[in-house]
Amino acid sequence: MATQRPGFPLRLTPTASAATRGRPPAATTATTPSIAAIDRTPAMASDAVRARMVKRLAAQGIADARVLRAMGTVERHRFVDSALVNQAYEDTSLPIGLGQTISKPNVVARMIELLLGAPALANKANDRLGRVLEIGTGCGYQAAVLGHVATEVYSIERLRGLHEKARVNLRPFRLATVHLMLGDGMVGYPKGAPYAGIIAAAGGESVPEAWITQLAIGGRIVAPTQSATGGQALVVIDKTARGLERRILEAVHFVPLKSGIA
Ligand code: SAH
Repeated sequence: MATQRPGFPLRLTPTASAATRGRPPAATTATTPSIAAIDRTPAMASDAVRARMVKRLAAQGIADARVLRAMGTVERHRFVDSALVNQAYEDTSLPIGLGQTISKPNVVARMIELLLGAPALANKANDRLGRVLEIGTGCGYQAAVLGHVATEVYSIERLRGLHEKARVNLRPFRLATVHLMLGDGMVGYPKGAPYAGIIAAAGGESVPEAWITQLAIGGRIVAPTQSATGGQALVVIDKTARGLERRILEAVHFVPLKSGIA
């Protein structure tokens, strides 16, 4: 079913009435464009809000130019429900249906920055990462961002409803290198292996053995995993010729990694 996407942003001042038309705009309309202005410049309106988000990400410590560029390019508001469009560029997680959430921009940027720190890309600050596997497509937002920093993206989702939603969301972007699969990401996706990077958007008790097997030498896994205290923390696993190197980083809050398709 074709869905009509709203323009951006939806929080708009009323269009100028006949009485005010032709007069210089009031002070408030300088920062909040009218519907008419938005209709004429929808892309530019969201560009400005996204540029502010990127500035905030940089201030929060995201330093990788590839990540900032990708976050500045992908139109996050096209991945959330119309009622939430106004919050699309705020630093908040948002519901995407079926009890799942899209992570805060800051968390998406942080995890992709970590992924790009894979050993194979050491001292190659301008290069794209090779093939990436994403577990948990959700609405497809992160897959689109990954599409700008990796040569190929395989993204797997266990919930049919979200897999289909992501398909619809991603279609207009025509990202030929982003592949969506319906399946249980707990077992990875052997057909695309070996991966230069594996990134999970859902947290399990531990990192499944299949992901480690499907990771290339020089590759990196970034995944939320249950921590010793019962919460969740980001885990980074590097696969090198010498073996695995594991680091546990900051606490995070992700939806649970579940097995099977639903
Ligand atoms: N990256 C997503 C965030 C999705 S939330 C985005 O940008 O929107 C995490 C997703 O992981 C949920 O959609 C959930 O259904 C999915 N998930 C949980 N366990 C999974 C598994 N074993 N295989 C594939 N997807 C899984």
